[in-house]
Formats: sequence, structure tokens, C-alpha cells
Amino acid sequence: MPFDEKNITQIGPSGSPARFDYQCGHCDRYVTGRVVSSYFTLGGPHILFLICPSCLMGSVRHQIEEKEYIIPGLKPGEDLEGLPTEIKSAYDEARKCFSINAYTGCELLCRKILMYVGVNKGAPEGQSFVSYLNYLEEKGYITPTIKEWADRIRQFGNLSTHKLDPPDQSRTEATFKFTMVLLRIIFEMKYLSDKFE
Ligand SMILES: [Zn+2]
Repeated sequence: MPFDEKNITQIGPSGSPARFDYQCGHCDRYVTGRVVSSYFTLGGPHILFLICPSCLMGSVRHQIEEKEYIIPGLKPGEDLEGLPTEIKSAYDEARKCFSINAYTGCELLCRKILMYVGVNKGAPEGQSFVSYLNYLEEKGYITPTIKEWADRIRQFGNLSTHKLDPPDQSRTEATFKFTMVLLRIIFEMKYLSDKFE
């Protein structure tokens, strides 16, 4: 069975699907994508090249045996409001890294975000990552309890930098989640609150 047939909404003249339902990793919308090309081998991978009708970006859907992958996959986390430009850019890049299984890149970006946050709040550039966490605590942006889990971002980023073993999905997911919540606490909540002044 080459396809999960529930996703096929139209069959083309060659017998391969002309349309395919999926959630687009670029715009996050559920769409009926156009199949611009497909590739099949008996017992091998089945590949569809898809165009999203909403954002017009391309995706590739692989099916190998019973497993299905759509690349880019969905970005983890949520859009956050009130982030400074350079932090938003690094956060978005970390999400994209995760969506294409680039876990090392994701963890390195999350660790770098600690520096961006520290510098944004007045710390000097070029300091150690631990010094940025200490700074954020001293200035009252984070509590000792928050610092405990936020320090995982630094620790896991260090492992990704200095150890040859790549991080697995679950560790990177945790690193990313710590980063998202830290940004939410330091930037998004104040941004939301300021709206009501
Ligand atoms: Zn799209």
C-alpha cells in the first residue's frame, strides 16, 4: 500500500495522486497540496513532491515501509509575541532546525539565545553562558527555580558542542521547550501586560 489513502483527494491520469492532504510545515495550515511529481519503487520508498496552495512552498513526503515523513515537518513550539528582532530570528531558526531533525543546530541556537537575552537586558557581550544566567537572576528576570531548569539549555548546548554523540529528539525537545518558556516569561508576558496600560 503506497499511500495512506485517506489523504488522497484526487488521482491523476497516471494513477498516482494529483492531490494530497497534509499539514504544511512552512505555514502550519492543513491543506490539500498539489502533487507536482512522484517517485515509486516496488518495496522501496514512495516519494511525493508537494506544493502548498496556501503559502506556495514545497514539501517532500516520504513513505518508507509503514513510516511516513513530511519534510519540512511541523515546527515545535508556538509563535511568541514581543520578542526583540534578533531573538525572534534565533528562536525561529531553532524551530526550523528541529523541524528538519537538525537537533545539534537547534540546541546550539537555544544556548546562543541565552546570550541574546542577557545582552538584551544589559549584560556585556562575550561572556560565558553561565554568567548570563547569573546576570538574569541577579537582575530579577528569573528566580532560582527557573534558573535550575534554564541551566539545562546551557548544559545541553555544551554537550552538543563538545561531545561527538548527537542529541536525540527528546533531549532537544526539552532544550527547546525550556528556551520557549524562558522567552515567554522574560518577554512575552511583559509585552502582553503592557498592552493593557
Ligand atoms: Zn504552506
